[in-house]
Amino acid sequence: MAAIYFHIPFCKRLCGYCDFLRSVKIQHIPQVVEMMHKELEEQHSFLTEREIKTIYFGGGTPSLLHPSEIERFIDHCRALFDCSTVEEITVEVNPDDITEQYVAELAKSSVNRISMGIQSLDNQCLKFMGRRHSAEQAVEAVRRLREGGFDNISVDVIFGVDGFGGHSLERTLQGILDLDVEHISAYHLTIEPTTRFGRALAKGEIKQVSEQCSEDEFMAVHQALTAAGYEHYEVSNFAKSGYRSRHNSSYWTGSQYLGIGTGAHSFNGEERRWCEQRVEEYIQGVIYGSETLSADEKLNEYLMVSLRRIEGFDLQTVADKWGTKAAERIAQSCKPFVERGWLVKNGDNFAIPATHFLVSDTIIGELFC
Ligand code: SF4
Repeated sequence: MAAIYFHIPFCKRLCGYCDFLRSVKIQHIPQVVEMMHKELEEQHSFLTEREIKTIYFGGGTPSLLHPSEIERFIDHCRALFDCSTVEEITVEVNPDDITEQYVAELAKSSVNRISMGIQSLDNQCLKFMGRRHSAEQAVEAVRRLREGGFDNISVDVIFGVDGFGGHSLERTLQGILDLDVEHISAYHLTIEPTTRFGRALAKGEIKQVSEQCSEDEFMAVHQALTAAGYEHYEVSNFAKSGYRSRHNSSYWTGSQYLGIGTGAHSFNGEERRWCEQRVEEYIQGVIYGSETLSADEKLNEYLMVSLRRIEGFDLQTVADKWGTKAAERIAQSCKPFVERGWLVKNGDNFAIPATHFLVSDTIIGELFC
């Protein structure tokens, strides 16, 4: 089964750390929405898999769309695909868009999962990051969504922010646990040169946290959330039992997906396609970049997505799909990591223990073709 992703590339204000494809020119929303419907109409046959498992509205800020606009996209999917198999429809929201009226309208739609960017429950940290909501608004938004009947809520948290570890992070984690949400995504702050934070870093106005601090905060997050019963099932994701993100799991298990909108990527098992235009260009006509994966690239992809998950990868699968030579090379490359305890071998299965997820990129890099 396949997944569909809609990218709504608008934000009322830009956060200091954000390098997603987004725009503050919200006057273009109607044109972009119409272009996205046109793109869906023209590109749906890119997927050879016609049964849809998940639909996801990400951004940017999808909650800048009225729920009826979100439902119109879902209806359009129903007209083009077999959506009788859909299990999960997620919308990313910003806390300050979650008014009682918005929740009431959203509850009438087919959306059954909410992903909210909270990032911190420390108002100083939120201000530093340039978020446009307060901690109190975030807590109130979750309460409103619960009252509106949403029983599958995910929240995003950011750690590794210089000056906001220690008590600030502890308070955030405790506050998030008090919300009793079903799913938590916790990301380490990364500072890209093209962002406001990147420019401030270059001028020495802000600092990155030290490697030791990164490790300590990663472990603090891991321990607090797993002790509360969340499964650390992917590098950045924690879920209560039965509440893993089905949409993201599709990406990690090599399923087909169709991305609509600027900033969205698609994959049909062979070809990867993406559109990275600015909003003003996108509304004039969509231009795609594309690549067809070689066998080696597919193997690298398999290792990368598998090792980011607690399940890891299977050496027999590598041997079956890419040959015994590839399997032997990888088994050899795994040895030093197994000896250090960074990889756990169980028969043909190799997995990174959740406590070592922070070094997953290092391990994956060594195993690549
Ligand atoms: S709201 Fe999200 S997408 Fe928009 S600028 Fe902030 S982090 Fe980026």
